[in-house]
Amino acid sequence: VDQLSRVFDVSAPWLSRVVERKPKRYLQAVKDISFVVEKGKCLALVGESGCGKSTVARLVTGLYEPSEGAMMFAPASRGRNRGKPMEAQMIFQDPHASLNPRWRVGDIIAEPIREFGLRKGAQAIEARVAELLQTVGLSADDANRYPHAFSGGQRQRISIARALASEPEFLVCDEPTSALDVSVQAQILNLMRKLQDELGLTYLFISHNLAVVRHMADRIAVMYLGRIVEEADTEALFSNPQHPYTQLLLQTIPDVAAPNRDRALMGGEPPSPLDPPQGCAFHPRCPIANAACSQTMPAIRARLGGGKVACHLASDVHPK
Ligand code: SF4
Ligand code: MG
Repeated sequence: VDQLSRVFDVSAPWLSRVVERKPKRYLQAVKDISFVVEKGKCLALVGESGCGKSTVARLVTGLYEPSEGAMMFAPASRGRNRGKPMEAQMIFQDPHASLNPRWRVGDIIAEPIREFGLRKGAQAIEARVAELLQTVGLSADDANRYPHAFSGGQRQRISIARALASEPEFLVCDEPTSALDVSVQAQILNLMRKLQDELGLTYLFISHNLAVVRHMADRIAVMYLGRIVEEADTEALFSNPQHPYTQLLLQTIPDVAAPNRDRALMGGEPPSPLDPPQGCAFHPRCPIANAACSQTMPAIRARLGGGKVACHLASDVHPK
């Protein structure tokens, strides 16, 4: 990692959470997750629903506490924030559910400004709210309206303004465009890229959609059943995917004309994380699995040219 970059690293061995309110049943949602997000860059976490990517997002922002093991943040390389995690804010998939319907938009955005003491006095706060609304492509007058008066895309703009209100360095975005129409998705992604450039933001971008991620992410980590199975720079991952799961995800980039094709190609639903397969967790769905795959879990190995991959049969890797 570039010494001059502030880095953010998460390691979460043996994390688990209770499911279905059954006291003795635990779902090990994610395990041994470790990644680096360089300052000013975008790392995408990609995988099917249930792979644990939202859990990672919530751990990073402190919405979940690990019930076993620990979250560890690598020391920033220099300066007063050495060893501290970056200030992170989260943007959720469903802006309808994450905005309080009884609050005016202006109050929703003003709350973090007050809470963090970033502006003093009603006038200064109001001016900052107006500025944030304009930053996300809305107008100052929108502060007086309620969330229900806005479209889905506009509500996501409001969520982004609220996230920016606390002046974070780091934004964790969990499927921020998945609930939106395709044309609106592109507008929100463009806005997020523009804000990244202008404000020097760092993103952890969670998605099930590699097509969305391709234009956002500098680097991509692919998750399967709670583990990162491959990680590489975006162009390297697209041009030379080493893990069979990544290869299948690339073949099945969601196609509006054949929405069910991906599940078929992939060999059905992923197994339950409550009862993960022995050996390589992907072996029941893997088109090239051999006998060793159902016995031994593959170690993470370094990809040639950077990144990592966990597959016994990966070819472009450094020798063990
Ligand atoms: Fe497929 Fe075996 Fe590689 Fe797992 S280790 S992805 S089952 S080839
Ligand atoms: Mg999710």
